[in-house]
Amino acid sequence: MDPKLDPKLDQMRHSAAHLLAHAIALLYPETKFTIGPATDNGFFYDFLPLVNLKEEDLAAIEHEMHEIVQRKLPITQRLVDKDEARMLFKNNPFKLELIDQIPDEQVGISQQGTFLDLCKGGHVASTGDIKYFKLTNISGSYWRGDRENQALQRISGVAFLTQEAFEHFEKQQAEALLYDHRKLGKEMDLFSLQPEGPGFPFFHPKGMVIMNQLKKFMSGLLEEHGYQEISTPTILNEELWVQSGHATFYRDNMYFIQIDSVGYAVKPMSCPGAFLIYGSRPRSYRELPLRFSEFGHVHRRELSGVLHGLLRVRAFTQDDAHIMCTFDQLESEITTVLGLVGAMLKKVGFEQPTIYLATRPENAMGNVVVWDRAIAILEQALTKAGLDFITKPGEGAFYGPKIEFGIHDSMGRTWQCGTIQVDFLQPENFDLSYITPEGNRERVVVVHHAIYGSFERFFAVLLEHYKGRLPFWLAPEQCRILTICPEVAEYAKTISASLKKIGIRTELDASDEQLSSKIKDAQLERIPWMVILGKKEAEQQTLTIRLPDGKQRMGLTLAQVLEEAQALNT
Ligand SMILES: [Zn+2]
Ligand SMILES: [Zn+2]
Repeated sequence: MDPKLDPKLDQMRHSAAHLLAHAIALLYPETKFTIGPATDNGFFYDFLPLVNLKEEDLAAIEHEMHEIVQRKLPITQRLVDKDEARMLFKNNPFKLELIDQIPDEQVGISQQGTFLDLCKGGHVASTGDIKYFKLTNISGSYWRGDRENQALQRISGVAFLTQEAFEHFEKQQAEALLYDHRKLGKEMDLFSLQPEGPGFPFFHPKGMVIMNQLKKFMSGLLEEHGYQEISTPTILNEELWVQSGHATFYRDNMYFIQIDSVGYAVKPMSCPGAFLIYGSRPRSYRELPLRFSEFGHVHRRELSGVLHGLLRVRAFTQDDAHIMCTFDQLESEITTVLGLVGAMLKKVGFEQPTIYLATRPENAMGNVVVWDRAIAILEQALTKAGLDFITKPGEGAFYGPKIEFGIHDSMGRTWQCGTIQVDFLQPENFDLSYITPEGNRERVVVVHHAIYGSFERFFAVLLEHYKGRLPFWLAPEQCRILTICPEVAEYAKTISASLKKIGIRTELDASDEQLSSKIKDAQLERIPWMVILGKKEAEQQTLTIRLPDGKQRMGLTLAQVLEEAQALNT
């Protein structure tokens, strides 16, 4: 079950955040508290201490938390008038600001021992119910996540309902650390992140082979399904971003520059460019559905503190696509996109994803009837495709409902990658229409989708999922020929040339090293096929293949090997 959907777990994690604040209040009484929610694996609390806390202080804080747990303090909840609440938190400007923003006359106060917090409730009964937790790190944050505001400190932790779940998490963490994509990327010489470009990844030759394989597969898939590739500029006039709404709603995530004293922005998404191409001439109903795809390289502003390898970057490439269609064509288009997601997952070797359908939020724009119809269409397409999904009520974007895909990796983690987003707003903003058979102008519906999502992020997820042992078609070096003795050098060259000729990425190790050390090198570099050639193979004109798990297949003919390699490579 998705931990987010388990209310007991959520209550305990939320209570663990109060527990953390309680411990801080006892150890550092002058600290000002802000907010502290539950998270995917635990909780955090943001606060402003008198003196900055450090990583080494976490042990003492965690110890104090356990002391409070031992005391089994009941956690109580009551409603008080705002004026009383203002008195209780009179020394804390953050809580006062929160109180002012609560629309009700009364506000909730939680209490455990002498510690009070502003909270609308949803806790475990006693501090004794919070048992399996750990503080994980301390980082910087800002009040309300806005870098213009007061800088704060954030302490994060993990918390679980059972010892078993806690241990399972610890084990996964240890494994994840071992196969962290940043570590693998360095060991395998795939990519790097350098101080000259924080959050802007560098792809090395071998990493680029993987990226290009992923792109090649996706291009082929999209082309097969009637998508036409486009390319739109990275830098576009600021007016365009005003028209799309990004300059208002997405401003904090964008980079702005000046050219000839005119304002421009670096694209955080590729959508507006696609709309300009659509709108560059009148469109007939005969052209619909029109499917544009673009591997768009986008830039997004991120705080330096949240950057994380290839998972959280400031520049990345999306396998972006925009479908312009009529409402009647929506269902069949969604069905096609669901098929694309399925084909991609099968190709890269992921199991069935968890699918979410995010529906109409309160601040939605557009007609409720249109929304309901679109949601019904998405539900129908999912149901007809035989896909189970979880509805997230009210979690769609304000401009349309969306489908999200959570993929599950080999270490039990879930990653959100692809999305399908229906959009009623941009057709209005960009006056996207078509001429009907009767000669009238009608609005199109726009579907935005990304199948991998971000190539960089997907690359990282794949690398960790496979623990560096990528499938044959993705491996930067697919085959290494290892000679046992110098006499077979000529034979090895012929074999190497034959494999290269059919497009297999092959290297030849004809050095004087011992076979065992050649095997060790190839193992370390995670090469899927080792072709071992000795006197016997040369005489019989055969090959021996050694797989990474140590299994050997002997007496294979060249024709056999070529056929097999080709099959694995497509
Ligand atoms: Zn609470
Ligand atoms: Zn888009």
